Amino acid sequence: MPTTTTAQLESFNPATGERVGSVPVTPVDEIPAIVARAREAQKAWGAKTAQERADIIRPAGQALADRADELGELLTREMGKPLAEGVGECRGCGEGLGDEVNEIAKAVTPETLDGESVQTTLYHDPLGVCAAITPWNFPIAMPHWSVLPALVTGNTCVLKPSEQTPLIAQAYVDVLNEVLPEGVLQIIHGEDDQGKALVAADIDLISFTGSKTAGQHIMRSAAGGLKRLILELGSKDPLIVLEGADLDAAATFAARNTFRNCGQVCVSTERIYVQDSVKDVFMDKLIEQSKTYSVGDGMSEGTVVGPMIDENQKRHVLDQVQDAMSKGAKVVFGGEARDGAFISPTVLDGVTHEMDIMRTETFGPIACVAGVKDAAEAIELANDTEYGLGGAVFGTDEQARSVARQLTAGMVGVNRGLGGAPGSPWVGAKQSGYSYHSGPMGHRQFCQVRVVSEAKAE
Ligand code: NAD
Repeated sequence: MPTTTTAQLESFNPATGERVGSVPVTPVDEIPAIVARAREAQKAWGAKTAQERADIIRPAGQALADRADELGELLTREMGKPLAEGVGECRGCGEGLGDEVNEIAKAVTPETLDGESVQTTLYHDPLGVCAAITPWNFPIAMPHWSVLPALVTGNTCVLKPSEQTPLIAQAYVDVLNEVLPEGVLQIIHGEDDQGKALVAADIDLISFTGSKTAGQHIMRSAAGGLKRLILELGSKDPLIVLEGADLDAAATFAARNTFRNCGQVCVSTERIYVQDSVKDVFMDKLIEQSKTYSVGDGMSEGTVVGPMIDENQKRHVLDQVQDAMSKGAKVVFGGEARDGAFISPTVLDGVTHEMDIMRTETFGPIACVAGVKDAAEAIELANDTEYGLGGAVFGTDEQARSVARQLTAGMVGVNRGLGGAPGSPWVGAKQSGYSYHSGPMGHRQFCQVRVVSEAKAE
């Protein structure tokens, strides 16, 4: 658990409780001046072309990739995920940066529309100053997803990373600032108060990734200034497994997508609906898979599942399991008590929508399995949620495709996870999000479209 003193935000290793380091807390009353600096810097930055901005940022990709081992270790010590995943997150951001900045620059190239007597040019201009407010579960990737499009489209950016992972966010910003002009990317540290002060400051867009509750608060606060919003919020993603599915593939996916990052992923599988005729076989395979998810310190060899981010999050998950068991669910794998922030990957059978664990985001390594008689019942239950970020359907290709189209989620995978082809936006439906990012459509959300028309020459 981080604790603030008057001046320092302390960061602790969730696996060991050891102090990893600290950063100075940004005084709330300094935030308007930080934003004013960003606005001043935006004049020169926004006057460059998108391609010029992409070229300035590009060398930071190599620097991130070159330092992936060192940054990944810091990430793991601060957040807990296994070292290979920490290093992979840093390397992935670095190695993908070159293509990403090119894609963003291309997305905002002016477009021409031709009418019979009129010609129109669509410009994708910067908005001004963007706030990026991010969570701890992918503590480099989440800032990266907001900061890069904000900057390449010509905005300047103030990042407020999670108070749980300030050190890795600071390291990321330091790498980018080796190539960026002063004031283009700044970082502030602290808890909710710093986030609230940033939202209230003179900014033009808030790109927020985090919980629904904070997203709602931000939306209310932004209303006065009609500030633009990108809200990437929580979810309760379903997995549907139907007769005719490759049950080995479905069980492998179910385990990986439930237990990865200790379940602390916005698109984790949080609910599993399995057709009764294949449920027993699927369950056996899921339990076999679950045995391979060994829990431990992310720095230790062989660890597949690290700790939860802190003991509060662990308590929330265990309370949900307890509530489910008191209403009739059975633990068929895992469930044993562990010290500290660790929690056992667990499989629950017989869950229903009367249980909190099937309605409220869990964000933990709990596979919740319910039997359904057919695809229609699976669709009805899968859609019985206020959320709608992702989902997956395993079955015969034709049936799985048809079921996928009937799910009210933003992104669905058919016989696979939901990751889309290059250019796909990352998009939530219902209360999982408002607006979206990634892909050309997402990059343009950081822009003001301007429409300039003139008569065609006779
Ligand atoms: P959180 O909402 O508690 O905090 C996120 C960030 O917002 C932090 O930096 C925090 O300090 C700040 N913050 C909190 N309240 C604020 C307020 N009122 N105004 C301004 N800033 C505020 O979320 P978390 O616990 O860090 O992250 C977990 C959540 O993030 C989960 O719900 C998860 O599903 C979601 N998430 C969503 C996506 C997505 O793509 N949809 C991706 C990753 C995580």
